[in-house]
Order: sequence, then C-alpha cells, then structure tokens
Amino acid sequence: MNIPFLDLKAGYLELKAELDAAYQRVIDSGWYLLGQELEAFEAEFAAYCEAKYCVGVGNGMDALHLILRALGIGPGDEVIVPSHTFIATWLAVSYAGATPVPVEPNVKTYNIDPNLIEAAITERTKAIMPVHLYGQPADMSRINALAYRYGLKVIEDAAQAHGAKYRGQRTGSLGDAAGFSFYPGKNLGAFGDGGAVVTNNQEIADKVRVLRNYGSRTKYHNEVQGFNSRLDELQASFLRVKLKKLDEWNARRTMIAQYYLEKLAETSSLTLPYVPSWAEPVWHLFVIRSEKRDVLSKKLKENAIQTLIHYPIPPHLSEAYQNNNWEGYSLKLTKHITREVLSLPMGLHLAYDDIQTVTSNLKRFA
Ligand SMILES: *Cc1c(COP(=O)(O)O)cnc(C)c1O
Repeated sequence: MNIPFLDLKAGYLELKAELDAAYQRVIDSGWYLLGQELEAFEAEFAAYCEAKYCVGVGNGMDALHLILRALGIGPGDEVIVPSHTFIATWLAVSYAGATPVPVEPNVKTYNIDPNLIEAAITERTKAIMPVHLYGQPADMSRINALAYRYGLKVIEDAAQAHGAKYRGQRTGSLGDAAGFSFYPGKNLGAFGDGGAVVTNNQEIADKVRVLRNYGSRTKYHNEVQGFNSRLDELQASFLRVKLKKLDEWNARRTMIAQYYLEKLAETSSLTLPYVPSWAEPVWHLFVIRSEKRDVLSKKLKENAIQTLIHYPIPPHLSEAYQNNNWEGYSLKLTKHITREVLSLPMGLHLAYDDIQTVTSNLKRFA
C-alpha cells in the first residue's frame, strides 16, 4: 500500500458538489477579479481570524511583502526573521528592499526563540516577523512585549497556521498584521496561488488594498507605485467553500498528530513535536527528528511511505543569500535541526490504517 506525503485531491472530493457549483457560478457571472466573491471571502476570513480586516492578494509571499510596504519598511531597514523557516519569509523582506536578520529557533518548538531576539535588535530594526512554523504559534506575548519596548512592528507569517490559537486567540490577530498563504498544500488551500493580509489596523488594510491594485483606489488614478497582486474570484469562491470545513479539517489533522504522538512515544531515538501548554497547533506538518534521518526516510520510501524534509537548506546557506555577510552568525542549531528533521505524511488523505503503517514502520527502523 502506497502512502503519499500529501494528496490534495482528498479535499476536493469531499466538497466536490459545492466546489463545482462555485466554479459554475463564477464562470457564469462574467466577472473574474475584484468582485463579490472576494469581498465575501475577505469578510468571512477576517471573522474567522477574529480580526477586523482581510485583504486578498496573489500569494503568501506578496501578503508579507505588501505589509512591509504598507508599514514603510524598505532599504536600510532590518527585519528580524527566524533562521529556521521556509525561504519565502526572507524573500518577502528582501523584496521590500530591507535586510532579513536571522534569529535561531527554540530547540523544542522550532519557532523563533524570544530569548535571542533582543541581541539582534539594532538601530535599524523596524520589525519582527515570527513564523508560526509547522502550524504551531510562536511565543507571541514575549515577542510583542519586546516589540513594544523597542518600538517595532510585529508581522505574523501565518502561512502554515490558519486557525491555530495562541492562548485561545487565533493567529492573524496577534501582531500588527499577518500574512496568510492559500497555496494548495496549506491547511486552507486554493486551487492555484492565493494569499491574504489580515489585520486590526485600518491604515494597513487600506494601504495594502491600494498597493495590490497598481496603487489605485479609483481606476486610472494611481496614488503610489503599486503592484498587481490580487486574489481572483474563482479562488475566492473555492476558499469560501473550504473555509467552512477548516475547523473540521484541522481537528482531523490534530487527531492524526495525537495518534502519531501516542504510537511513537516509546521510540527513544526519535524526537517528537513539543506543544507548549498555551499553543493550539493546526499541524500543517508533523515533524520528528532523528540522528538517522536519511536512513530512516530511505527505509520508509522502500516501504512505500513518502516523507519530506522541511527544510533541507536554511535560507542563509542557500545560494540566494550567499552574498550576505554571515560572519558573526553561527546559526549552529539551525544547521543541526536541518540535518535531523523529517516530516511524516499528514493530511485528509490518511486513513487509520495508513497511520498505523507509518508508525509501525518507523518503530521498526528508528
Ligand atoms: C508557503 C509559505 C509562504 C509563502 O506562501 P506562497 O503563497 O507560496 O507565496 C511564506 N511563509 C511560509 C512559512 C510558508 O510556508
């Protein structure tokens, strides 16, 4: 029996009738950008995040980039980012013309370590961009307290954490603004690219709304040099259908995670995910660590179980950032974690038997 890491069709099949109806409705309407579907989705997703505003954009990286632009962060400015993250977090900062300054993670949660942030703050620091990595919220009250003390903005990279809660409060309303991605593989995924900015700050929402549409509020009246980054009507209509299922789907991921945690608890050579008492993760990924990671993934593959690595190369060691000066940065823990992480199959496609097969094979080879 073959167990893929992810099968996006499972989510489609569960909602086929409604998704097909949404497709037909939008195609028949003759209106494909900046219309009713987007407006409705923006209202519904803002409400879901318990935030005042949502602005749909082209993708998750644009969401982060446009927040930075809206805050006036650019050349000469520094933004503190996690060293252990998907590179899009960094690229958004670079795209705005600012400099990403990496801070190492906590070894148990893999999220940015609040204890190490203060040492990275300089006169040029303008913002902290924590990532809720793997679907688990970062330690936001400690990050916000630091930001308050130094007059910094806090931008959540919530691309992996739709619906996750920090001390009972949803991601998306925990900082000044949040960037979400609706890349197909995310917990709330479109059938193509998509993203959104969520915020309680009217000025940020308003600026992003203008920036995403060539810098104009009224057609052909361009206030600023904007961009073209919009969430189209089809994707918005699909996301409206899927949003209604998000809590149920996140609960199913939580069940799978619970099962993995129980079944693997006795396997001493594996480091399992750690969830702080204040976190309600949504398990975008289920990531374990092993010194024998490469052997383990090979053995699992031989037994038709697909695993992935998130992420095999940290941003600062990627070719894209090879010209930055990394002297004085050891980022040792990030390198260490990179060598050991392994993501187990996670998603709606997994049946009880699949999870059983994954855990029994893991125990055999770990
Ligand atoms: C997916 C992702 C992004 C980028 O989202 P896109 O929609 O692919 O542009 C940014 N940050 C993190 C942490 C992500 O996982």
